[in-house]
Amino acid sequence: MNEQWIQFAERVKEMYGKDFVPLHEPTFNKKEVEYVTDCVKTGWVSSVGAYVTRFEEDLAKFVGVKRAVAVVNGTAALHIALKVAGVEANDEVLMPSLTFIATANAVSYCGAIPHFVDVHEETLGMDPFKLDAYLEDISEVRNGELYNKETKRRIKALVPMHTFGHAVHLEELLVLAEKYYLVIVEDAAESLGTYYKGKHTGSFGKINAMSFNGNKIITTGGGGAILTDDEALADYAKHLTITAKVPHKWEYVHDEIGYNYRMPNINAALGCAQLEKISELLKHKKQLTSKYDKLVANLDGVYLFKQPKHSDSNYWLQTLVLDESLNREEVLTFLNEKGVMSRPIWRPIDKLEMYKACPKMELSVTDILNKNIVNIPSTPIEVN
Ligand SMILES: *Cc1c(COP(=O)(O)O)cnc(C)c1O
Repeated sequence: MNEQWIQFAERVKEMYGKDFVPLHEPTFNKKEVEYVTDCVKTGWVSSVGAYVTRFEEDLAKFVGVKRAVAVVNGTAALHIALKVAGVEANDEVLMPSLTFIATANAVSYCGAIPHFVDVHEETLGMDPFKLDAYLEDISEVRNGELYNKETKRRIKALVPMHTFGHAVHLEELLVLAEKYYLVIVEDAAESLGTYYKGKHTGSFGKINAMSFNGNKIITTGGGGAILTDDEALADYAKHLTITAKVPHKWEYVHDEIGYNYRMPNINAALGCAQLEKISELLKHKKQLTSKYDKLVANLDGVYLFKQPKHSDSNYWLQTLVLDESLNREEVLTFLNEKGVMSRPIWRPIDKLEMYKACPKMELSVTDILNKNIVNIPSTPIEVN
């Protein structure tokens, strides 16, 4: 790697004031300590306590949906969202191959089968134009349901994911969902604080999922949430996540096989504190983007990925897109050795052993992007 890259690595370390710069770290201040300490002091650390309800209400308000159900992680949120949306064993679920493994695993937990769709280079997420042409070809509608002509299986749902916090072509996907009788479940794990044409992501699907893992835009340690405007679905989702226990003062009666997916109070306490400063975190993310824009302008053969025109993005992970003159492995090796933590985009899921045999469309854009994308340190900090 040349002098330009040596300079780049130095500038990034200077900006963060560190010799080793992690990819993404949580930011904690007094409020987190105060709320978590409160849980410990009062003993309300587990399945009962006021922070869970407060976190659910604050989150629903911020996203602009009627209800949020807090759960143990984003994968569990996706699992329950898909189940409640009507995904059943042996259904197919359309999803990008270029996503974190959790999207596919959640589909598998329902006994359903991921069906991989290509992505659009403008959004890094699902390509509705390519998908439309593909579905015209391989599927047919019978009695208000979509079927894969080849596998004979029902295609039930569409799971768009907002890669690194950039909103996908939601409007076009909503039209597709209507046309093909598909239910939309957004994987909004990475997009808290991202808006599509002024409306928050995670509020477009029938029921949607978000993550608060340690590396996400805000964290509850580990955690996730199910988001929806549908009160009945929210109630059912909540019921399933608390072992499907029928409310009673002392009796243990459960009316179906439920899940122990409830978010503990101590995690929700952290979440309440984090949510209070979300605007500041988002502001710092944008400042970081402007700063990187200047630094990346000095590098040949690479550009900084910017929000698509319909998206007001949270810039969760800052993204370099390399051209053919650069080798991804060399860039990764160089930056990581210099102490600037960098990671490739996920290996496309259709290439992984357990998902190799799943149905998929031609995934050329996925394969190109996979070779060219490197994420660089993205912890929100005040820069000027
Ligand atoms: C983080 C993430 C998830 C899952 O979240 P966990 O809280 O880690 O289970 C799901 N989908 C995507 C795209 C993610 O980035």
